[in-house]
Amino acid sequence: MPLIVQKFGGSSVRDRDRIFNVARIVANTFNAGNDVAVVVSAQGDTTDDLLEKAGEITHNPSAREMDVLLSSGEQISMALLAMALGELGCPAVSLTGWQAGFETNRSYGRARIKNLNTERIASELDKRRVVIVAGFQGLNVNDDITTLGRGGSDTSAVAIAAALRADRCQIFTDVDGVYTADPRLVPNAKKLQVISFDEMLELATLGAQVLNNRSVELAKKFGVELEVLSSLNPVSGTIVREGYDMMEGMLIKGVAKDTNVAVVSILDVPDVPGMSFKVFSLLGQKKINVDIILQSSGRGGNKDLIFTVPASDAAIAHQILLENLGRFGGKEVLVDTNVAKVSIVGAGMQSHSGVAAKMFEALYEANVNVRMISTSEIKISVLIDAAEADRAVVAIHAAFEE
Ligand code: ASP
Ligand code: MG
Repeated sequence: MPLIVQKFGGSSVRDRDRIFNVARIVANTFNAGNDVAVVVSAQGDTTDDLLEKAGEITHNPSAREMDVLLSSGEQISMALLAMALGELGCPAVSLTGWQAGFETNRSYGRARIKNLNTERIASELDKRRVVIVAGFQGLNVNDDITTLGRGGSDTSAVAIAAALRADRCQIFTDVDGVYTADPRLVPNAKKLQVISFDEMLELATLGAQVLNNRSVELAKKFGVELEVLSSLNPVSGTIVREGYDMMEGMLIKGVAKDTNVAVVSILDVPDVPGMSFKVFSLLGQKKINVDIILQSSGRGGNKDLIFTVPASDAAIAHQILLENLGRFGGKEVLVDTNVAKVSIVGAGMQSHSGVAAKMFEALYEANVNVRMISTSEIKISVLIDAAEADRAVVAIHAAFEE
């Protein structure tokens, strides 16, 4: 029997009506003669609410207890969905991440899946039941609950699809696919029929909210074709798969905006070998991802090191750099969170010239100042003032519309 994995995000299971809506989608898939494994997220803003509750108790919660708390949101969803399926006469069983066999590394809050023991899921599917698995959670070697990081349920779904060699992996969300820009910002953004793993990975990493980037990484690694679609609007969505089709002829697949960015500047560090190594290895030890890096040319034996980090890590980065400033010999550390990164992504830019110029022209005409630039083979990112980000997205999108 074909196996279909279906993942439903928080907005898709927000309340009673949405849960029954999901139950009908799942039951229809099951009744059409498929085995169905479902992954659910916590309802609506539950995860944020749980974070807030912890904040009412302490500003320094134990990472272990935080994961115990956060993993409870998904358990509510899975039980309610199993009950709703029962109401529809569809046999279903819910499983926590650990019942479902998710083994992770030790890192609380951002755990990585090490292994998925599929025995239990497979045996439930054999009994011709819908299996509902709580997303974003597993168990580490200490038998402690871990969570996979925000948006981690996508990754749980892809892992199940990969391990059980599912015939399809459908990611249901509240938009009906991947668009060339956020349709709330750019009303004439177009839905993509197909996008490659690499392009999707860049878009997901650069701020498009549809898919979690680690889920795309995993899908690429195991060749799991993904279908992104709406749980509310039954139209065809976007397929994410290997390779890309020149015939599609779209140079740019998307314009993304990321406001979770901060610029860190370390001023007047000595212009000597090993300085970048010292700074960035320190940040690496704290698992802080550095993205765009600029280094001013030396003057008077000194230089400035300027780079971006996620805004959510800016306070920690600031603190540890200040603590080590004496070691580097720098004068000052400045942090600016009023910035945004706007990026264009498209594999087509590898074989076309003038893409960067077109983007910069659009920014120039919109009177947006570019503070930093970074590029890869299939993306160009600019760092600009946060207040100008929406205007920049609209202008760039318009420039690439044929
Ligand atoms: N509930 C978790 C979150 O909000 C995981 C997920 O939704 O994928 O981040
Ligand atoms: Mg969520």
